[in-house]
Amino acid sequence: MSLEYQQVGVKCPICAAEKLIQLPHNLFEQKKFGNIKIQVPEHLVCEHPFILFLDNKGIVRGYERIDVLFDFGKVAEDLKDQKSKEFSLRDILVRLGDFVLYHLLHGYIFNYQTYLLCQEIDVAFIGALEKLFTKVSPLKIGETSSITPIEFHAYDDIKLKDKDALILSPEGYVVQCPWSSNTEFERQLVKQALDIIDLDSQNIVIEKEIENFIVQAEKIIEMLKPVKSIYDTDLIKNLADELMQPRISDNRLIALKEYIGRKYDPKIPKKIKNKVGEFLKML
Ligand SMILES: [Zn+2]
Repeated sequence: MSLEYQQVGVKCPICAAEKLIQLPHNLFEQKKFGNIKIQVPEHLVCEHPFILFLDNKGIVRGYERIDVLFDFGKVAEDLKDQKSKEFSLRDILVRLGDFVLYHLLHGYIFNYQTYLLCQEIDVAFIGALEKLFTKVSPLKIGETSSITPIEFHAYDDIKLKDKDALILSPEGYVVQCPWSSNTEFERQLVKQALDIIDLDSQNIVIEKEIENFIVQAEKIIEMLKPVKSIYDTDLIKNLADELMQPRISDNRLIALKEYIGRKYDPKIPKKIKNKVGEFLKML
């Protein structure tokens, strides 16, 4: 089957520039759960990159502003200079882009079944990807997801009924995203790692960062055990005191709650209350 395209009218959330963009029609044919997320790169509509949310009829449901972290030209240059032939984060960035990389990492760490739509399945690439993720994972990580490639033209025939699955396309489309949190944790992880040129050190940094995330999750579980509930602000303060670390951000707490809910018990994060939320409920 040849790829057919659907035109979608897009408007930049920053400068309001408008343009029609072409998206593969079969992105919208499958019954999907939640919105499709697309990273619109800079210079496609205007000079701003942003994230576009579409429903499964191709209707625009919203936009999100983003900052550019990488100069892809430079990442590609660094890759050329890379002495060893070892597969690294830079390879994934150059091939799939940052947006798909953050989602792949999130799917892997948080254990969501992941499907990667491919024009042509590259078994060596998927293998290298999984090998790298295994290498940078601390022992504590427990169960992680596998990455299953699906040929794009066969996509229409496949019934992906799992609403807990992550579906990505290498063009930078997040066809189905099973979580509602953002990928700020993964963005910071990649940013920190790419500041380091040496690959072994880079891999160690990623492993340490994931390990610290899990240490924070385990500490929160321990702190929640004896209490019925706790306010998020108190939890953030106590966690910093207990681990002798800076206070975590609200985004980080959202990611930790999601991780604990998926990897341990969904009841545990429900003990964390939000003062503003409680106040609103009283009104
Ligand atoms: Zn713009």
